[in-house]
Amino acid sequence: MDYAAYKPAVMSLLKKLVEIESPTYEKAAVNRLGAVVAREASKLGASIEIIPKKTVGDQIIARWGSGPGGFFLVGHIDTVFPLGTLDLMPFYEEGAKTFGPGVLDMKAGVVIMLQTIAILQEMGQMPKRPITMFFNTDEEMGSYLSREIVKKLAKDMALTLVFEPSENLDGSLHTWRKGTGKFHIKVQGRAAHSGGAHQKGLNAIEELSYQIVKVQRLTDYDKGTTINIGSIQGGRAINIVPAFAEADGDIRVITVDEYKRVEAVIRNLEPVLKEALIATECILNRPPMPYTELTDATFKKAQKIAAAEGMEIIAGGSGSASDANFVAEMGIPVLDGMGGVGEGFHSESEYILTQSILDRLKLTVALLRDW
Ligand SMILES: [Zn+2]
Repeated sequence: MDYAAYKPAVMSLLKKLVEIESPTYEKAAVNRLGAVVAREASKLGASIEIIPKKTVGDQIIARWGSGPGGFFLVGHIDTVFPLGTLDLMPFYEEGAKTFGPGVLDMKAGVVIMLQTIAILQEMGQMPKRPITMFFNTDEEMGSYLSREIVKKLAKDMALTLVFEPSENLDGSLHTWRKGTGKFHIKVQGRAAHSGGAHQKGLNAIEELSYQIVKVQRLTDYDKGTTINIGSIQGGRAINIVPAFAEADGDIRVITVDEYKRVEAVIRNLEPVLKEALIATECILNRPPMPYTELTDATFKKAQKIAAAEGMEIIAGGSGSASDANFVAEMGIPVLDGMGGVGEGFHSESEYILTQSILDRLKLTVALLRDW
């Protein structure tokens, strides 16, 4: 089956979605895109449920059939690009690539989700299992307002497919993802004049420096654990001993045990300078999605279905997390990286390899038809 025939429909929908800008915090803009996505799904016969949100775009659920044992397809319609980005980086296709804000992450994924249904219907091969789609609107801000919905919808599903782009140019699916956490360290010292009363001061920046080195060194590449102190603040002027300093950091782990190791150190930091006060916060935002036996079985089944279509798929992973992490934690089969392949996401050079959209479309159709 040659999917080149579907290219005009795919590209026209992709252009439409990319040209409606949808930064997470621009609720009205995201809703404009949401309305288009809901209309497209509804044209394909879905029943639509809109979940209103106060601060971000309303979330959209599209259902074909109901009951347990279904397919759960997950995407997000928000992007990291502010309104007006389109003027600087318009949607266009050149050579093998297609450019535009959010084209890779992940408007192409949304197109694949919708076009899969169109093709299955055209072939008269809609699966007997129910299909549920979730179009998230706060994924780029950490899915704080959507994770419970994702978990509720994923329950009792036979297979979850997440249409984030593959972060690897070999197009591998994300069969594992790191968990992501973050922390905050606050140090209270004592202000004093740096000339007249240096000894009476307690330098919060000095204290924070000792703690930063200790925490940053929890990084363990062999275990896949990384710590990144990403921002620091403190002090007001060079002639004042600073009374306050703080730092924020990012944690990436492959196992929950590794997160616990890091968290224990951060929560129990002891001041090096007598009398300094340290306060910390540390949370695991998205749990790790390790490569388990269930993942292995799920991937192998997908590989077999793909092979019957003459397609080869490979297993890979990513240091970043997605909504797949929440589903994996529930012990439900999940394959991520089902969106296209490209580079430069979250940057002005974001592009997708156009052919990869058609390849993933073919793969998704086969998975839903033959699972
Ligand atoms: Zn994404």
